[in-house]
Amino acid sequence: MITLSHQRHELRLRHTFRLARGASDTRTNLFVELEHEGLVGLGEAAPIERYGQDWTSAAKAVEEMVARLAEPTVDPRAFDSAAELAAVRGQPAAEAAIDMALRDLAGKRLGAPYYELLGLDPRSMPVTSFTIGMDTPEVVEAKVREAAEFAVLKVKMGSDEDRGVLETVRGVTDRPVRVDANEGWTFEDALERLEWLHEMGVELVEQPLPADQLEATRELRHISPLPLFADESVHRSAEVPRLAEAFDGINIKLTKCGGMGEALRMISVARAHGLQIMLGCMIESSLAVTAAAHLAPLVDHVDLDGNLLISNDPFVGAAVEEGRLVLPRDPGLGVHRSETGFGRA
Ligand code: MG
Repeated sequence: MITLSHQRHELRLRHTFRLARGASDTRTNLFVELEHEGLVGLGEAAPIERYGQDWTSAAKAVEEMVARLAEPTVDPRAFDSAAELAAVRGQPAAEAAIDMALRDLAGKRLGAPYYELLGLDPRSMPVTSFTIGMDTPEVVEAKVREAAEFAVLKVKMGSDEDRGVLETVRGVTDRPVRVDANEGWTFEDALERLEWLHEMGVELVEQPLPADQLEATRELRHISPLPLFADESVHRSAEVPRLAEAFDGINIKLTKCGGMGEALRMISVARAHGLQIMLGCMIESSLAVTAAAHLAPLVDHVDLDGNLLISNDPFVGAAVEEGRLVLPRDPGLGVHRSETGFGRA
């Protein structure tokens, strides 16, 4: 018998988070516990408003999924097929939570960290970037100084202030910078900015144009001096082949694709098409960030800092040492409740 409990938790951001699309101070995620044969698997859903999800739609979806998992023909130990059978399409955040919890259970049952089940070497972790949201020059400068231990910065762009933001960052550090435009540019904006960003030593640019402008992005890629990465343009593995001409790489997020199983499929398809891979996240606790980190030895770039942007993380998982995530060695995802847990710290 498999049973579910879930609860929502409001994650508080250390700084107001500003993107080309808007700003926020908190994010409400849904946390699940799946109990099976005396063990508990943990999962987290970080619903994305842009795609019509919130914690209530995620709660409804996880309940539906666990009802399917409880059917006598389904074996939750066969986590890959069980997650597929249970999936509620259109609710990838909820799918990711259940998929994650099933894999956590499997590792706990076998007494091994999940990365060992995949045969991965936890020492081969790329450095993780640290995100600098859009803000006033003073705040941007303070954030860059706070991020001293990170070897790579990811700077959010997509406004008239883009030049000022990067100049502020460059005034403080010459560390490598990646830029995320979050669909905030027109073709003309992108053309003009890409040249300049290249001169400023930027490594790559994420989602320069709106997701529906694939043809324009293809044109842009031909003339871009910098590699272009898809984020909002890519959700699941089936979409990867048609992006191969328009982008140099893709950003995979568990909450966008529906979990670790689908993320692994995306990695395979992207590799087959010669694309680079970045592993990203939303505003998430150490639970979902650690789940994603278990796949990090398979990718080129890591952008897993969502847990570092919040002040009331209910979990403890992967730590950061010299700018790299260090995977926990405990069985499953290796994640535990933090001292405050869901209490209001
Ligand atoms: Mg992005």
